[in-house]
Amino acid sequence: MPHHADSEKIAKALATLDIHNYGDVLQCMRCGTCLPTCPTYRTDGIETQSPRGRVAMIKAVIDGRLPASEEFVEHMYHCLDCRNCQTVCPAGVKVGELVVEARHRIEENSPQALLKRFMLQYAVRSQKRLSHYLVPVRLYQYLGLQWLVRKSQILQLISSDLDFMEALLQPLPLRPLTSMIPEEIPAVGKEKGRVGFFLGCAMNLMFADVSRDTITLLTRAGYTVVVPRGQQCCGAPNIAEGERAVYREMAEHHVNLFEGKEVEAIVTDCAACGAELKAYRETLGKQGRVAEKASAFSAKVRDISEFLAIALGDDIKLGAIPEVVCFHDPCHLRHGQKLIFPQRDLLHRIPGLTYREIPDDGQCCGSAGIYNVTHRERSMKILEAKITAIGKTGARTVITSNPGCLLQLYYGKKRWNQTWNVSHISQVLRLSLDLGNQGTNR
Ligand code: SF4
Ligand code: SF4
Repeated sequence: MPHHADSEKIAKALATLDIHNYGDVLQCMRCGTCLPTCPTYRTDGIETQSPRGRVAMIKAVIDGRLPASEEFVEHMYHCLDCRNCQTVCPAGVKVGELVVEARHRIEENSPQALLKRFMLQYAVRSQKRLSHYLVPVRLYQYLGLQWLVRKSQILQLISSDLDFMEALLQPLPLRPLTSMIPEEIPAVGKEKGRVGFFLGCAMNLMFADVSRDTITLLTRAGYTVVVPRGQQCCGAPNIAEGERAVYREMAEHHVNLFEGKEVEAIVTDCAACGAELKAYRETLGKQGRVAEKASAFSAKVRDISEFLAIALGDDIKLGAIPEVVCFHDPCHLRHGQKLIFPQRDLLHRIPGLTYREIPDDGQCCGSAGIYNVTHRERSMKILEAKITAIGKTGARTVITSNPGCLLQLYYGKKRWNQTWNVSHISQVLRLSLDLGNQGTNR
C-alpha cells in the first residue's frame, strides 16, 4: 500500500474510470445483499468495510465529495478481492474488480517502494530467478537452522512480522519441479489427447510434489502433458497490487508460449493462476494484435478439477478412502472461475469418502495473495472464523486447490491446534488412483 499518495492526481485518475466495465458503480442500489458475504464486513461490522461502502467511497471520490486521502487509499487495500460479493450482487456490480482498478489508479500516481518494484517488475518474470532467490531459504531449512530458530523462538523478539512469515513456511522441495520433469510427459496407455500444463510459481517452487501428482493424474487419465519451458508468473500478484504494464507483457508471453503446442486444454492446479489465465482474454482483448490469440488461449484454460471431472473416464478405477473430508473453496475458484461442482463431483466419486460442506457459504480463508502479511490482524480474524467453521464438519482432511490457501490452512491448523490434515485435491485423487490400481500398471 503506497504512502504519500498524490490525492489530487488519484482523484483525477479515478474520475476517468470506465465504470461501465464494473457493472456500473451507479447500479449499486444499496440493497445490502452483499454485506453478509463480505469477510471484512463480517469481522468488523462497519459500512466502510463492506462492498457497498467501498462502492460508495469510490463514487464519492469520482464525484469530488471525498478526497482521495491516505485513509481512502488504505480502505482500498482492506478488500481481499475475494469477489464473494460479486457472486451474490443482484445488480452485477463487480466490487472486487472495481477496487482493484482503483488500486491501479492509486499505484500509477504514487511513488513505488523499491522492493515492490523489484518483485513485480523483475523477479516474477522468471521462475528460474525466483528459484535462485529461494536458495537461502532452502539452506535455512535443510541445514537445520529453521529447527533452531523455531525452538529458540528468537524471531518473536526481533520482529513479529518476520516471525509470522517464518511460521507460514512449509518445507520446500530441494529443486523446483521444472528441473525434475521433461517438457513433455507421455500419456500412460493409449493417448486420448494432449494438454498443456501451466505450472504456477508457488506450485513449482513450494508444492512440487502436488503438481507432480497433478501431472500423474493427467497422464494416467490418458493425456500427454506438455509443460513449456520459460513460464513466468501468471501476473496475479501484479494485478492485485495495481501493476499493469509488466502484467500485460507476462500475459502476452504466455499466450505466445502455448501457441503451436497443439494442446486441447491448458490445465493448472493453482486456482489463482487459473482465474488469471482465464482473464487474459479481457486484459489483452482490447489490444487488436493479440486479442484473438488471447481469447483462444483463455478459452482453453481449465482448473484441474474442471478438466478431470470430464476427462476421468469410467475406465479409471478409484480406490476407497474411508475418511470424512471437506473442501475449502479458494475464492479464485468459487468466485473468480465460478467453479463449485467439479471438485465436489470428483470427491463424491471416491469410494468410502464422506464429504461434508464447511458451513460458511464459501468464505475466504484470509490468505488473498499477500493480504495475510500486509493485513495480518484482519487476516487472522478471517482465518479463525474459517477454522471454527471447519471444526463443525468433523473432517479429518481439509482439501483445497490453491497454494495460498494451503499455506494459510497449514498455519491455522498449527496456531489453533487442529488435528485435521490439509491436502490439495490432486493429492487425494492421486492416492485414490493408486489404491484403485494396486496390482495393475496404470
Ligand atoms: S449487493 Fe450489489 S447492489 Fe446491493 S449493496 Fe451490494 S454492491 Fe450494491
Ligand atoms: S471482494 Fe471480498 S473483501 Fe472485497 S468487498 Fe467483495 S466480499 Fe468484501
